[in-house]
Amino acid sequence: MARTIERIVWHTAAHGRDGQAFDTTAAQIDQWHRERGWNEIGYNVVIRFNGAIEKGRDPRKIPAGVAGLNQTTYHICFSGHGDIAPLTPQQLESGVQHTIEMLRKYGLVERFLSEPDGLIVMGHREVNELVRRGLAPTPTTKTCPGRLVDMNAVRLLIHQRLTQPPAPEYAYDAQAAGELYRGLQQVYAAAAKLNLPDEAMRFLNQFRKQPEVDEAIRRWKTEPR
Ligand SMILES: [Zn+2]
Repeated sequence: MARTIERIVWHTAAHGRDGQAFDTTAAQIDQWHRERGWNEIGYNVVIRFNGAIEKGRDPRKIPAGVAGLNQTTYHICFSGHGDIAPLTPQQLESGVQHTIEMLRKYGLVERFLSEPDGLIVMGHREVNELVRRGLAPTPTTKTCPGRLVDMNAVRLLIHQRLTQPPAPEYAYDAQAAGELYRGLQQVYAAAAKLNLPDEAMRFLNQFRKQPEVDEAIRRWKTEPR
């Protein structure tokens, strides 16, 4: 019998050591979960540092992601360790796109937009809020998908993507694109020297996530000059 998906849940592989997060593969997680006595990897997909999506458990089967809530949830796990390092820009972009795809696939877009506090897209740790509301049976002590992953910012980004019309065409200019690229490099180099806090770095990294900025830089790097 087909199951009904009501929520998309974000996780971290929580894979890191000595302040370094690792680019976990779906195969590694599959092995860990089998060692735990499960049939196979509990998550439906794993998103690597470069944004690549690796398949996990077939979403038609019941996953193993959040105790007491698996029947109605879809699970995205991010490689690395969300308490040690934020998602890479590629992971965030890929995660947002995949989440939107799944919201569409499972008919959840309207609910997501009309229930801003509904946790239709949620981090694993937010199951505690569902427990508080009487909507889930089992709380968690995990920080999953990690202290450095701000789920409100993630939901806001998804909300914007779903509601804003596509950005207008920008006027490409090779010289300006080159200046943009070098300017951003200077900003990131300066930020690294200043050892800015994660929150400030996340904000600065937003520059790179604008499709026009990405596209202008990609074009400048790849086109012959
Ligand atoms: Zn989790």
